This record gives sequence, C-alpha cells and structure tokens, in this order.
Amino acid sequence: MAEIVLNNLAHSYLPNPESEQEFALRELTHRWKQGGAYALLGPSGCGKSTLLNIISGLLQPSQGQVLFDGNEVNELSPKERNIAQVFQFPVVYGGMTVFDNLAFPLRNIKAPKAQIKQKVQEVAELMELTDVLKKKANNLSADQKQKISMARGLVREDVSAILFDEPLTVIDPHLKWKLRRKLKQIHEQLNITMLYVTHDQLEAATFADEIAVMYQGKIVQFGTPQSLFEKPNHTFVGYFIGSPGMNFIPVSWEQGECRFGNQTVTLTEQQEAALNATPSTNLKIGIRPEFVQLATSQERIEHSLQAECIHIEDYGTYSLATLMLDEHKIIMRVEEGERIAIGHVSIHFPNESLKLYIDEYLAGEVVSE
Ligand code: ADP
Ligand code: MG
Repeated sequence: MAEIVLNNLAHSYLPNPESEQEFALRELTHRWKQGGAYALLGPSGCGKSTLLNIISGLLQPSQGQVLFDGNEVNELSPKERNIAQVFQFPVVYGGMTVFDNLAFPLRNIKAPKAQIKQKVQEVAELMELTDVLKKKANNLSADQKQKISMARGLVREDVSAILFDEPLTVIDPHLKWKLRRKLKQIHEQLNITMLYVTHDQLEAATFADEIAVMYQGKIVQFGTPQSLFEKPNHTFVGYFIGSPGMNFIPVSWEQGECRFGNQTVTLTEQQEAALNATPSTNLKIGIRPEFVQLATSQERIEHSLQAECIHIEDYGTYSLATLMLDEHKIIMRVEEGERIAIGHVSIHFPNESLKLYIDEYLAGEVVSE
C-alpha cells in the first residue's frame, strides 16, 4: 500500500518534442493518498492510459519522478513496484483453469497453498466466478474473461496500488453497474490505493471519492464529484461533467459592464475585479442548466435576462428547455410544477451559481478556507 506522488511529470512519445502539443502528458505534479479511491476521467486520447502506465512502470516518463511512499521508483520494473493493473481487454492464461488464473499472482509470491485456496475462493465468490473455477479460461465469454482479469488484480492484498484502465469496456451494461458497486465495496474492505480510469462520469462518481478530470494531457481539476459539479475549474469540466453540461456564453467587459448582445449580466465584486485585472478578451460566463431560474420574484426581475424558449423536452419529473439568449443557445432545467412555454421568457442567473471564465479557467471566486 502506498501514497503515490508524481513530481513534475511529463511525457512525449516523440524523441525530441518541440511544442506542448507534442506531449501526451503536460507537466504535472500530483499526490494520490494512501488508501484513496480515485478516478481519472477524461475523453479518449487525453492521456489517461499514459499516466497509468507511467505509474505502473510499463512506460518511462520523458521527465519527472514517480514516488511511492517518498521513494523514487522510476528505475523499478512493474513487478518491483508491486502494482496490480487491470486493462481494458481481458488478459488471461487461456490454457489454464480459472482457479489457476486467479492463483497465479499468489503463487508468484510463494503464498502458502491454504491461503491461495482461501483467497481465490473469496475473490471468485465476489466476482461470481465460483461456478467456473474448474473451467479453462479459453472456453469462457469475453465478459467472463474480463472478470477473471479483474479478479486476478484483486487477489493480492499486499500490493502498492491497484490500477484499472477502463476495465468494464467489454462488460455488458447490467453487469457493469454491479461490478462498479463491487469494486467500491472491495476498496472499503481492503484500504488499498485504487486508481480507476474511465471516460464515463457516472462510473467515475460511483467508484471514486475524488476525481481527476484530464483534458489534453493535463489534470484540469481534482476534486469530489460535488465540487466538479458546483465549481468547475475549467470550461471543459463544466461541459464534460453534468448532463447536459454547463452553458457558456462569450461576454465582453467594457466600462464596468459585462455584456453579450444588448443584455447586461450582473456579476459579483470579485468577478468584476478579476475582469478589471485581465487583458484577456477570452471571457465567458457559465451556468448549469439546473441553476437557471425563471424571473418570478422582484429581485429576479430586476436582474432578468430576456430569452426565447424554442423547444421543451419532457423527462417526466423535469423538462429541459432550450432557450435562445440573442444568438446563444442555452439549456434550462425546469422542475415539475414550474411553468414554461414556447415564446418569450424572463430568466435569472443567481449570483452564487453564475461562474466567470477567463481564458477557459474559473476566475473571480471568493477564496474560502
Ligand atoms: P487515453 O487513455 O486517455 O485515451 P492515451 O494515454 O492512450 O489516452 O493517449 C494519449 C495521447 O498519446 C494520444 O494522442 C495518443 O494518440 C498518444 N499515444 C498513446 N500511446 C502512444 C504510443 N504508444 N505511441 C505514440 N503515441 C501514443
Ligand atoms: Mg486509454
């Protein structure tokens, strides 16, 4: 079991990278605490597998250090690092029985026979492989084979960490949900550092206590699912987390007014100060569909924005309304009992939910702590 620290880590697959774009991983420093359940979340190609393979030792980083409990492990092989890694597609010893597949990592460390038997049975039970323990792995379905791969990653309790790289890709949807819960349970029992790579926000949120959102080779935000939802640090996080994602509107800042088209948006003092301090013209406001309100009360009417509702999609307990704010399309979530109709509508963005982004990064927030 280990705390994993990445120190000024960066990686390019090219021998002589010349620009930032040529790095699959941009320089990053990060700490994964001992015993944590973490997810690495991001779209395909953002560098998740690269990062995982550097931690496990399958890949040597172009720059920086990997530390386990304070000791540099850059020169150590995956085996020496004592890491269990589960990949996207099954890796099984086809000619061996399922039992032997699961026993393999334990035999490797010369665990006593009785302990091997007990542990294999325990993990087989958990992954629902008990019935097939005596079968040859080759004769099983892709689903079952992947369960074997996962189970093999879980039989040893003495590993530094367990890394999962999109392990549920070939698993059918129903079983996916079940396995996700199981992994969470296992984490609670074992207190082993676990890193779970996925491009699925739901998967990340069910498994992890904290999520690192990756985008273009960078960790753009690290936090609880709730903080990613409430305070996206980057426009990408706002867009990627939530369904549908956050609304963004490009704005201008002139003579103390935040504007788009001929409408004015009311900002907080901190947001105004941030705008006064930046030379950038890449300015956006962001608000989640859940936080857009109808301008009903007096306070809301005073700061209301004028929009045109062009489409309403009914989801039973709520609806999603598509609004045009000048030429900008935004989505508003309307709860059961609230009324909205096609045509003109006055809306309001509450101060605490209206975010400001300068050069795609969150700005003008009150610093807490
Ligand atoms: P993810 O796992 O998030 O989909 P990867 O870490 O696999 O992303 O890839 C990150 C970037 O590095 C991508 O642009 C990908 O094309 C590139 N890449 C990945 N593996 C290799 C490789 N072996 N050689 C060259 N480029 C690679
Ligand atoms: Mg990958």
